[in-house]
Amino acid sequence: MPGQLYIVSAPSGAGKTTLVRGLLEQDAGIRLSVSHTTRAPRPGEVDGQHYHFTDRAAFEALRAGGGFLESAEVHGNLYGTSRAWIEAQMATGMDILLEIDWQGARQVRLAFPQAVGIFILPPSLEELERRLRGRNSDSDAVIARRLEAARGEMEHVDEFHYCIINKDLAEAHADLLAIVRSCRVRLNVQKARHPEAFAFLQSND
Ligand code: 5GP
Repeated sequence: MPGQLYIVSAPSGAGKTTLVRGLLEQDAGIRLSVSHTTRAPRPGEVDGQHYHFTDRAAFEALRAGGGFLESAEVHGNLYGTSRAWIEAQMATGMDILLEIDWQGARQVRLAFPQAVGIFILPPSLEELERRLRGRNSDSDAVIARRLEAARGEMEHVDEFHYCIINKDLAEAHADLLAIVRSCRVRLNVQKARHPEAFAFLQSND
């Protein structure tokens, strides 16, 4: 059985990266897709680990060749998920997690209707603003722009199956683990992955 595909989306400031990192540390059965982007690396970001950093021409060429399962422009930069990598990983039965925006999530759902969508919300817009302000000393105009972008992302929450409200990090982390674990114990998944446990169903034939 192919692995389960999880899509995790959130506005910036909701704690998505921290939560996803925590899940990957705790769960060896799930792998994170490394996206391609035309955005410049931030300090500390490593090519091939955080993103595959590419220029616009190379990105467009990959996209034209059908190399992306999904792609989108976010804050003026292009982002895309490698189709070949996803297909190869899923064929091995590994579960895959995509950290992408709502536009990408829509495209992935069209290709893989069984993908599980998880949205991470901050507890309120006021708390999100506090978090965005706490990060650095950006001007009010910059903060206002980020909040507007965050609200735009959050307006798509209804397109996801699950929603984690990240008020308390430990609780949000437990919620994310619970979602993954509950997907794994669905009857059809258990039957496909552990046929030996269901052999008794044939034993009366
Ligand atoms: P950042 O540049 O801050 O790492 O990410 C900016 C936004 O782009 C985030 O909302 C992130 O989820 C989204 N993003 C990252 N990789 C991809 C991708 O491959 N596809 C899409 N559609 N969005 C992505």
